[in-house]
Amino acid sequence: VRDIFHSMDYGPAPESASEAMDWLASHKGMFGHWIDGGWTKAGKTFDSRNPATGETLAKVSQASQKDVDAAVKAARKAQKSWAKDAKARARVLYALARLIQKQSRLFAVLETLDNGKPIRESRDIDIPLVARHFYYHAGMAQLMEDELPDREALGVAGQIIPWNFPLLMLAWKVAPALAMGNTVVLKPAEYTSLTALLFADLSREAGVPPGVLNIVTGDGAVGQMIVDHPDIDKIAFTGSTSVGRKIREATAGSGKKLTLELGGKSPYIVFDDADLDSAIEGLVDAIWFNQGQVCCAGSRLLVQEGVAERFYTRLRARMDKLRLGDPLDKCIDVGAVVDPVQLKTITDLVDGSDGEVYRASTPLPEGGCFYPPTLITGLQPADRLMQEEIFGPVLVGTTFRTPAEAVDLANNTRYGLAATLWTENVNLALDIAPKLVSGVVWVNATNLFDAAAGFGGVRESGFGREGGWEGLLAYTKPRKPLKKIDKVDPAAAPEKAEA
Ligand code: NAD
Repeated sequence: VRDIFHSMDYGPAPESASEAMDWLASHKGMFGHWIDGGWTKAGKTFDSRNPATGETLAKVSQASQKDVDAAVKAARKAQKSWAKDAKARARVLYALARLIQKQSRLFAVLETLDNGKPIRESRDIDIPLVARHFYYHAGMAQLMEDELPDREALGVAGQIIPWNFPLLMLAWKVAPALAMGNTVVLKPAEYTSLTALLFADLSREAGVPPGVLNIVTGDGAVGQMIVDHPDIDKIAFTGSTSVGRKIREATAGSGKKLTLELGGKSPYIVFDDADLDSAIEGLVDAIWFNQGQVCCAGSRLLVQEGVAERFYTRLRARMDKLRLGDPLDKCIDVGAVVDPVQLKTITDLVDGSDGEVYRASTPLPEGGCFYPPTLITGLQPADRLMQEEIFGPVLVGTTFRTPAEAVDLANNTRYGLAATLWTENVNLALDIAPKLVSGVVWVNATNLFDAAAGFGGVRESGFGREGGWEGLLAYTKPRKPLKKIDKVDPAAAPEKAEA
């Protein structure tokens, strides 16, 4: 029996890309912008490539000022009537959620082709979280009149997102904005526009009225046009701290509301008494999920001295077992980095490091943007790679002696997005967690997200929250009083006057 198995080619075949290619072909591989419920003609275009092969998947348009103006105008025109009926909005958001579930395979394959992430991740994590986000916010739209009677929509939201979770970042932006009665102009990242364009295609089927959702594509210059547009009420940005800083400067004094979800260098703390096998599996998820291109990646390992040697030995063995390869293959653990530019940044940062570099011995696929899982030790806390976000599959590690030292090292960063700690001692966990300066702290787990829980950073990781009540409030303002207070006669209605 063993011989039969060994003679079989038993690796599952890669996921078929044919449906995604059919959808691209139905647009002749060429996209304009989605404005006022329809496609504009393609203008000046750029290529959207598959980073695993370098092949061009489609040509996507670079928006002009005229396109952005048209998108904002359509959003403004549609906003008042969209804000009127919360129950009608809920119906549309439920329809979007159901369509995403129905087309989840198409979305997952397209995301993997465009971004390079393993199909197992796009299929089992990204797209289900997207659907969940729309379901949750459909429910919240339905509740708005009862739960937030004193709030109303801000108006038109300009939304700019990164390439690491293209459709999920769209969901985090679009679902709460639409639920609360805003209309949107969204720009996906230039490397990964395709699932946003598929989403636009489906929005009509879900009954999204013209002008409520507008998607313009292009590079940072288009993002800047959105930020500077005088008829936008709120900017929601997810991306790098350096661009976030520019946006904050540009919106200062403009009266625009702003939320920023920026970078991180999140600590991953392992205490002596931790369940080491679980901590290692958690770490694989923390830093090698999505090739480490995760804002809250546990990219800074802090391990207590007593277990450090054992931990590193097991970690290196685990790294060697990670499989790199065709992102459409359901068996691979690590896919392609998003673009050659990003690959070069990662390569230069690691090559310039003085630390001890360990690269997983797993074979590297030929061609494409592949980088091996990497561990760097022997760095000082102030060293560049201990402080800077690498945004790739590269972990830096150091040791600590006491819990107090772990806290000091963990907080020795300009960021504050996420932190993870592993210990079997609940008292230690409850003591340490509140001392970590971080938007979220995970205990004996990592990368837990839920639409009902606010997510966001402190310090240079940004401000504002997405998800949960805080995320909803960020798309509303206090409703104007319906009656003027001075019209109430205090003698006739004393309680009302007090209220
Ligand atoms: P980036 O800042 O280069 O680009 C993000 C988006 O901003 C893109 O759509 C880009 O076209 C646009 N942009 C670029 N210059 C602009 C400008 N001057 N004005 C307006 N828009 C502009 O970031 P990236 O490389 O796409 O993404 C990686 C970064 O995003 C990492 O730092 C990561 O930590 C962060 N991120 C944060 C979160 C979070 O929730 N905190 C989530 C995902 C990614």
